[in-house]
Amino acid sequence: MIYLDHNATTPVDPRVREEMLPYLVEIFGNPSSLHSFGRKAKEAIEEARIRVAHLISANPKEIFFTSGGTEADNLAIRGIASYHKDRGKHIITTAIEHHAVLLCTDALEKEGFKITYIMPKKDGIVSAEDVLKAISKETILITIMTANNETGAFQPIKEIGRRLAEHNKKRTAKDRVYFHTDAVQAVGKTPFDVDKLQVDMVSLSGHKIYGPKGVGAIYIRQGSRISPITYGGQHENGMRPGTENVPGIVGFGRAAEIANSEFYKMKEVKRLRDLLERGILERIPDVQINGSQDMRLPTTTSISFSGVFSESLLAVLDQKGIAVSSGSACNSSSPSSHVLKSMELSKETMLSTLRFSLGTGNTEEEIRFVISATAEAVDKLR
Ligand SMILES: *Cc1c(COP(=O)(O)O)cnc(C)c1O
Repeated sequence: MIYLDHNATTPVDPRVREEMLPYLVEIFGNPSSLHSFGRKAKEAIEEARIRVAHLISANPKEIFFTSGGTEADNLAIRGIASYHKDRGKHIITTAIEHHAVLLCTDALEKEGFKITYIMPKKDGIVSAEDVLKAISKETILITIMTANNETGAFQPIKEIGRRLAEHNKKRTAKDRVYFHTDAVQAVGKTPFDVDKLQVDMVSLSGHKIYGPKGVGAIYIRQGSRISPITYGGQHENGMRPGTENVPGIVGFGRAAEIANSEFYKMKEVKRLRDLLERGILERIPDVQINGSQDMRLPTTTSISFSGVFSESLLAVLDQKGIAVSSGSACNSSSPSSHVLKSMELSKETMLSTLRFSLGTGNTEEEIRFVISATAEAVDKLR
């Protein structure tokens, strides 16, 4: 079996699993308990917080564990909307966000918020200028992903952060425009520093960086004014109440630590991704790569195979033991992609697109096999 769907989820690193196991067996205490069982669990959570903070150059006090990237996105958006709604109800985002953002802003729109969806250029990247120009007196939040899950395209977070900081210069925590980024796909693959990027909030997820599913975190810059979206206790400083997912948090912490010390592995992943692309372009006529080819994740390529239904191609490749995706995992039931659509791809091209997303476990032998298998399959289907 060859797994090329790492943007949907990654396998758990054996070192992560190893670190989690004791917390599923003997160290079962409730982190809120005052006895030694509880204290051990609490210590493990605080160690994980330090590790996750380190991965994005944040202070551990600014990390709040959640059930994943989706909850982190919702907390950032709803949390700011709820705290600041009396001074403004305008939010700026993009048309290419993950559904965790888009369906959340949709819901807010129904509640009376005004949402501006910035369109990307044909390369899948929004312009910082367009984002800044959309700011009005009513704007309370800008939320833009760091890297897109379908094309891998990096968005100009640093430039937006710099220009927004300029805009916010004379404002306080009460009246500034907050900046959130969904960095679920970017962290662990590219260095990420909350101060250099000048972001206020960042969404993270464990299972996209070789950690477990069902755990993630939100970074919230100290001094930010934001409301929780659930109530129930003082866990995570009241920002995210509920008894902590201790094994998950421990695993996420270890995964963050490994990612932070093994960035060098991305060089090989990029080499294999480029090899895959070149192989496909050389072997198969009438194919195109979608989105920017320089400003993107080292792991990802979105390729359209003219005249072939991606669903059929996916099925043939699956029979050969190769796992790829025809869009994002979250809307694999609907064949058209809001991301590719916003990049002005024709419906035909959209329906003939596959996403290959590589990971640290893939080998050159696998990639060579995938190139021949894809060439054969496309030939047969055409
Ligand atoms: C996977 C993903 C999410 C959702 O994270 P979960 O932990 O699965 O809830 C959010 N945003 C992006 C860009 C993602 O790729």
